[in-house]
Amino acid sequence: MRIDPHTHSTFSDGTDTPAELLVKASRAGLQVLGLTDHDTSVHLQAPATPGAFDPARPLSPWAENFGQALRAAGGLQAEIAVLPGVEISCDAPAEVGVHLLAYLPDLSRGHLQAIFDRAQETRRERLEAMIDLLSRDFPLHREQVWSKVAPGATPGRPHLADALVENGAFVDRSQAFAQVLHKRSSYYVPRWSPTIFEGIAATRADGGVPIIAHPFAARKGNKLSPDLFGDLVEAGLAGMEIWHRDHSAEERQLAAQLCEKYGLLASGSSDYHGRGKPNELGENLMPQATFEGILTQGASSLLTLRP
Ligand code: AMP
Ligand code: FE
Ligand code: FE
Ligand code: ZN
Repeated sequence: MRIDPHTHSTFSDGTDTPAELLVKASRAGLQVLGLTDHDTSVHLQAPATPGAFDPARPLSPWAENFGQALRAAGGLQAEIAVLPGVEISCDAPAEVGVHLLAYLPDLSRGHLQAIFDRAQETRRERLEAMIDLLSRDFPLHREQVWSKVAPGATPGRPHLADALVENGAFVDRSQAFAQVLHKRSSYYVPRWSPTIFEGIAATRADGGVPIIAHPFAARKGNKLSPDLFGDLVEAGLAGMEIWHRDHSAEERQLAAQLCEKYGLLASGSSDYHGRGKPNELGENLMPQATFEGILTQGASSLLTLRP
């Protein structure tokens, strides 16, 4: 079974709508696709007011007219299951940022939603503040940046990158991050995040399965201390990613050793973002045993879509 459990759509910083993403995933021969947009649940919910189908509007797979969106995107090649998840931006000690994947939560319990509501508010303020700073030195306009954020989507630095690239300031997102959007840049503005312990607690309180994404991605300036894992496991951590393009061979080895030591579920993923990053769908996969562990522990269900 080919399972790619960690991808992003236009509901955060991916460039494919969920329908485009699922059509591409079925063509890439995947049987399970994790939809894990950042700090939001909008990609896991039907719209409150189901309107007429608009192919330009992102539509969650849970929406009534999603079948139309799939056909408009070219149609599924085979049956595919959506693994619902969210990637939560968290803080760890020593000013390390860490991303926590929460799979199969029951969002009606409200613990994760309280985090997302607060995260969305601080992200909007933070985007405005970074626009103010960057527009002093680079061609950048407030309306243009916001036009990169799809309706209801999570705003973030990748949307700033897209506007800067459009204006010719940088060649792609990676260059914009390397030069002006990274954490130590004078244009960087921090935002509120829950601690990793709060993220794990909220995920478990909602019946979700907490798996840390790319914990040792040193190249992106985020490397979690291996000494923290005893406490993380005690707090309820279920697993972590090993096979991810931001992990070097040594970082994969370290992650695998810790999974073994603490009996954690071992995962891998593409972390696909569409045109936003070079990551390709299916380039890393989740082992079937880990998938089965998530299905056993999680409080909600897969959504199966048929051609
Ligand atoms: P934010 O959550 O707004 O602080 O932005 C973080 C997001 O930017 C992450 O979720 C990544 O998808 C993306 N990102 C972080 N570092 C880079 C990088 N070096 N190149 C491209 N995208 C990046
Ligand atoms: Fe992202
Ligand atoms: Fe991430
Ligand atoms: Zn991700």
